[in-house]
Amino acid sequence: MNDLQPIAFDGLDTSRPLLIAGPCSAETERQCLDTAHALAREGVQIFRAGIWKPRTKPGGFEGVGPEGLAWLRRVKAETGLYTATEVATRAHVEAALGAGIDLLWIGARTAANPFAMQEVADALQGVDIPVLVKNPVSPDLELWIGALERIYNAGIRRLGAIHRGFTSVDKSIYRNHPVWSIPIELRRRIPNIPLFSDPSHIGGRRELIAPLAQQAMDLGFDGLIVEAHCSPDAAWSDKAQQIAPETLAYIIRNLVIRDMNASTESLNELRSEIDKLDDELLDLLARRMRVSQRIGAYKKEHNMPVLQARRYEEMLGRRARQAVERGMDREFMRTVMQAIHEESIRQQMRVLE
Ligand code: PEP
Ligand code: MN
Repeated sequence: MNDLQPIAFDGLDTSRPLLIAGPCSAETERQCLDTAHALAREGVQIFRAGIWKPRTKPGGFEGVGPEGLAWLRRVKAETGLYTATEVATRAHVEAALGAGIDLLWIGARTAANPFAMQEVADALQGVDIPVLVKNPVSPDLELWIGALERIYNAGIRRLGAIHRGFTSVDKSIYRNHPVWSIPIELRRRIPNIPLFSDPSHIGGRRELIAPLAQQAMDLGFDGLIVEAHCSPDAAWSDKAQQIAPETLAYIIRNLVIRDMNASTESLNELRSEIDKLDDELLDLLARRMRVSQRIGAYKKEHNMPVLQARRYEEMLGRRARQAVERGMDREFMRTVMQAIHEESIRQQMRVLE
């Protein structure tokens, strides 16, 4: 995918991160217009609104349907904002294209389903429109890349990705875990992909939008898609995470946008220090694995099992506590120790063969 193009429209300033904002759902014509006028005054460039809403359970508000497309046309005519909506089926794509929607996105539930992705891709064959693909609900980078490839193979070149976090069984402050390593790895695999952050769906709560948006900017994301509503508390869907247009403007004004091209002497020095430390880490790990192999040999000689669960649990707990004492995240240390332990077990098993 090395011929991707930026998500650009005539007259859009691409020197700053692109800002897509608008309500979770288009509810009424009045709500769309009031929200859009306020957002246009605050410098937003693209207006989002869900016309078809994929709900976890039946019976909730499932979107106004095609009637709302006319409201988005009016938004565009009155405010000059470009318009964006979510599509999940061929019928959605055809209706949205017919109504002159400027940008399409594919939701997290759809991105998780290759049949649905292929149907959307087939409907886009030969069309030139920017398309953003959200990460699938499960933390599965290959599934996300596969969804992007299907759209790419349909001929779409203004193609981008939206990071909206992942479902997790672990409780946390987030509605959807960010698992930042996944969008970072996506960037490594497809370096030129425009990457957007959706702090609204990651956080699930208003107060998390500002810090999450800043984290995305610090990681060099290209844009943001944020849910904004003229009357957030009265929203028909996702009301805990929607903010007023003025609040959004305040958050955006306070974002620190870092210059990704500024690479100073001292930064290079720090990077080489990191490289040296990584070399040492690698050496240490190799030494640790050699000790594991000797333990494997000992266990074999004395007919002992490889995995000793009690010792492993104690080790994990102790290292996690030490990590916290030294200013690191407990879960981070558990993940590191689990990965090291897995490789140790593999090395011990090799001795047993
Ligand atoms: C949305 O953007 O309103 C939406 C339904 O998001 P997601 O697909 O990320 O859940
Ligand atoms: Mn939403």
